Amino acid sequence: MAEETKTESKPLTTGFLSSTQLMEIDACTNCGECMKWCPTYGVYNDKPEITPPLKIKAFRDLMGGQHGLRAKIFGPKKLNEEEIDKFTYDFYMCSTCGVCGSVCPVGINTVELWESIRANLVRRGNGPYEKQKFFPQLLYKDRNPYGGKAEERLSFVPPDAEVLESANIAYFPGCTAAYRQQTLGVATVRILNALDIPFCMLGEDEWCCASVLVRTGQREIMQEHANHNVDAFKDRGVETVLYACAGCIRTASIDWPRWYEGYIPYKNVPLSVYLRDKIQNGEVEWKHSLNKKLTFHDPCHSGRHILHHIGNDWTFEAPRDVYHAFPGAEYVEMERSRELQRCCGAGGGVKAGVPDLALGMGSARVKDGEDAGAEMMSSTCPFCRRNIMDGRNAMGSKMGFADQVEIMAVLMGLDVAIPPNPYLEYQEWDDVLGDRICIKPGDLEPVKPDDIEGD
Ligand code: SF4
Ligand code: SF4
Repeated sequence: MAEETKTESKPLTTGFLSSTQLMEIDACTNCGECMKWCPTYGVYNDKPEITPPLKIKAFRDLMGGQHGLRAKIFGPKKLNEEEIDKFTYDFYMCSTCGVCGSVCPVGINTVELWESIRANLVRRGNGPYEKQKFFPQLLYKDRNPYGGKAEERLSFVPPDAEVLESANIAYFPGCTAAYRQQTLGVATVRILNALDIPFCMLGEDEWCCASVLVRTGQREIMQEHANHNVDAFKDRGVETVLYACAGCIRTASIDWPRWYEGYIPYKNVPLSVYLRDKIQNGEVEWKHSLNKKLTFHDPCHSGRHILHHIGNDWTFEAPRDVYHAFPGAEYVEMERSRELQRCCGAGGGVKAGVPDLALGMGSARVKDGEDAGAEMMSSTCPFCRRNIMDGRNAMGSKMGFADQVEIMAVLMGLDVAIPPNPYLEYQEWDDVLGDRICIKPGDLEPVKPDDIEGD
């Protein structure tokens, strides 16, 4: 009872909201356009309260009772804890994908607004949602969300690969490629080596980009992670950092500069952009042909989230140019693509906090691919890869899935086998050239160059 009274007395504040965001809360006209596009509402279509106009209205009502004219005269309305709990639930049924902001006719920057309101919910003790609350302690303890050991961060790197201690170019694999989706890391290292690009990685010194903290409103150790990673690159004299993870490049490009205490001298480049240049310069030698209908899932974080930061060409065209260069690939576009793509369901803390919703969204994206006639879907993000494969498995589809770098490495005839390491049990992949899916270590061996007949 004493605990209840203490919680009830806490106000819900607007402390993390800018003056522009306060105006945005009043600017929503309830037109409903965003509701047609919202991927979480697409799955939970009996819950309109999770959509932008109703979330904004609910927050406006809560704030009105606390800070409006009536509250100034008669005192703030007592917060109803059940109402706040319901509001918190509705607020976290969102992958912060941002398509609502892309279609909003009054230009509300919804992703920023959702994240700021979540930060206020966390401050009051209502957010985050379910397992999302473990992220800060996991990151504080191991500096990654998977409980991986720092000294094993590069355990995916094949022993014969060449990775330097310092170089002008760095590759930031991110936690998911390092510990859970290691084929991406192997493929990237193999491609960079095959193209004779000297590069370094931070290894033990690499900390999580901390995207998941900002997306779920838990900002307290974000600055430590931004400072640590940026300083580590500076110490190595890095001029260009390559990212093959959408969440990492969004966070490094937009969030780290907000928290980092100083000048950031290097530039952040999506790996697709770098690889497109190499392909267009004639530096890539292809050994195999894909011979499949292939479609691309634009990740939200390296798409809509950074579109206005790095531009249309780097965001949407570079990855497509790489796919178009793959020998034997028949590229098909999904109806929802580029700025209007449908989120895979992994982001915004949804994968950890609301796994059923994440699965439903992943399956919906696979259905989009099937409707486009694709035999294989691909993306440029390990987290999209995991959730779309999970969605595919849940719905029993046979659609193949592989990251862009996995396909590229195989078509270049490179050995993408993951070396023995403590995280092997978590790995899973699909055939790039064949049609086997869900291959696990010890189950079926991955296809190696020697096994492949020349095309
Ligand atoms: S960010 Fe995406 S999931 Fe969240 S409310 Fe907007 S459209 Fe829906
Ligand atoms: S599109 Fe914009 S103005 Fe219309 S309901 Fe959604 S958030 Fe409100």
